[in-house]
Amino acid sequence: MFDLASFDDHEGVHFFHDGDSGLRCVIAVHSTVLGPSAGGCRMWDYATGAEMVTDVLRLSQGMSYKNAMAGLELGGGKAVIWGNSKTDKSEALFRAFGRAVESLQGKYYTAEDVGIDTADIEIAAQETSYAAGLTSGGAASGDPSPITALGVFRGIKATAMRAFGTDDLNGRTVAVQGVGSVGGHVCQYLAEAGANLVVCDVDETALAVVSQRDSATIAAVNDIYDVEADIFSPNALGAIINPDTLKRLKVKVIAGGANNQLKTPEMGAMVRDAGILYAPDYVINGAGIINVAAEISGTYSREWVDAKMDILIETLGQVLDEALETGGATNIVADRIAKARIEAARA
Ligand code: NAD
Repeated sequence: MFDLASFDDHEGVHFFHDGDSGLRCVIAVHSTVLGPSAGGCRMWDYATGAEMVTDVLRLSQGMSYKNAMAGLELGGGKAVIWGNSKTDKSEALFRAFGRAVESLQGKYYTAEDVGIDTADIEIAAQETSYAAGLTSGGAASGDPSPITALGVFRGIKATAMRAFGTDDLNGRTVAVQGVGSVGGHVCQYLAEAGANLVVCDVDETALAVVSQRDSATIAAVNDIYDVEADIFSPNALGAIINPDTLKRLKVKVIAGGANNQLKTPEMGAMVRDAGILYAPDYVINGAGIINVAAEISGTYSREWVDAKMDILIETLGQVLDEALETGGATNIVADRIAKARIEAARA
């Protein structure tokens, strides 16, 4: 693991196995410099254990940067459970996961991510006090996806402002990849703003909801990169901006909620050279963790969340403006600011 390119001086990478429930889980704590690490739990049917480890290393590093950019007193961590989220869930599995989180004694707070819903976290919370995104309890903040989506929508507007000179989305065409918890809500906001939507997903049911409610046109999963659109909004999985997809994109803006959108950091410069303005993923999708942070603080306040989201959107604007002024790639500018914030706290 120490030799992997995705290993970035993580403070701890913890492997758990529970024979009774079949739990196979890794919790990576990237940094606790700004505070206890926090980040969602992902359930995914990885092809190999090595792929799972790479994913959790990248995701937890991303959470350190995301929490720093969101102005939170939280470090970066993430959990991944190896399994099919449609067929492999059980109460025993999430109780075992809760015990794994508890064993880290507050170094890591968990919440929902891909494949995990509030019911799963509620079960885990019976075994640990370090779970957020709950639907019950004094400070419960519920599913963070709707707030994440609101932040993504506002981020799309902030990016459009810089790319098109106006943040009016009326009549703009947006190609949306993934219409799950985040993408579905993003579509709703975009449709309300008058945007034309072209959407894709592997889940027919989710697609049917969005096409009916938001008058979205459905594209085949493999055709979404070829759509004649102004904006591409990735809201499914990572590494989807790569040399193959970039040459197919006809958009001027990439702005969406998915984590780890760029296949490699070098893609940021290639996206810039293609004349596309990219909203760095961990900045534009930071509103969900702000919502979770409000719960972790012990007293949930929507006003506090909204105030932090305002600052987050300003921070995104600063990243885009600096990149445009200096000719830098937006992801590299964001990384530099995030690292500087963590180093300032360490000092
Ligand atoms: P989700 O599981 O609810 O939705 C993901 C959707 O993507 C699903 O509908 C799935 O069917 C679809 N999908 C899977 N493979 C696809 C493919 N090849 N092409 C098109 N669609 C595909 O998950 P979510 O919570 O909406 O998260 C989406 C992304 O946003 C993830 O990258 C996640 O890490 C990130 N994110 C989520 C939150 C949050 O609050 N939930 C916060 C920040 C970032």
